Amino acid sequence: MRRSPLHIFEEAYRELRPGEPVPERKVEFFAFTNIKNTIRMRQGKLLIRLSDLLEGAPEPILRAIAHILLAKMYRKPVEREAATRYRRYVSSTDISRKAHLMRQVRGRKRLDSAQGRTYDLEKVFEDLNTRFFHGLLARPQMTWSRDHARNHLGHYDPAHNAIVVSRIFDHPGVPRYAVDYIVYHEMLHLKHPVKLRGSRRCVHSAEFQAEEKLFPRLEEVRRFLKQI
Ligand SMILES: [Zn+2]
Repeated sequence: MRRSPLHIFEEAYRELRPGEPVPERKVEFFAFTNIKNTIRMRQGKLLIRLSDLLEGAPEPILRAIAHILLAKMYRKPVEREAATRYRRYVSSTDISRKAHLMRQVRGRKRLDSAQGRTYDLEKVFEDLNTRFFHGLLARPQMTWSRDHARNHLGHYDPAHNAIVVSRIFDHPGVPRYAVDYIVYHEMLHLKHPVKLRGSRRCVHSAEFQAEEKLFPRLEEVRRFLKQI
């Protein structure tokens, strides 16, 4: 018999925090525009939303998701096995095909497009989300800037929940890893919300900087950005 998601989350909680009382939980499958899963704590109650694409997922996958979300919530390390299992599942052809269709159907029409001439920022975001964030970051609006500003490589605009990347990078001469790096940096701003200090918009905490160093080929990226 299939166990309910509520039950699966209860078990994952007990494994992660033995002896702690299990909080009330609400688990629902939600029609997000892409595959993502969210967890929040509201008044002592855990609110969990799973992408409806995962509704038919096998139990080990749901267990992996429960572990990943709870580990994030309680700042515990994510078990590599769970992360791998989940990543493999969402990147399996069947699921990624469904996700692609879903984005086409549910994705909103926008004035500014994420799809540039060379790079699709939504795809860049989703790839990085899978590679570095267990697919857990909710995708903001992704847009190429209208102008070709050089002083502003990219920025995250919390008011519009948008990541804007300078259009100079939407060019075949720009390596993918440079675009990846700029978007990765802005994704870290999403993950580490800015604690406002005066009027500074771009605050890079020690935690932020440590995580930024995880980006591969960082020296190469910085060298490239310097000469652009
Ligand atoms: Zn920054």
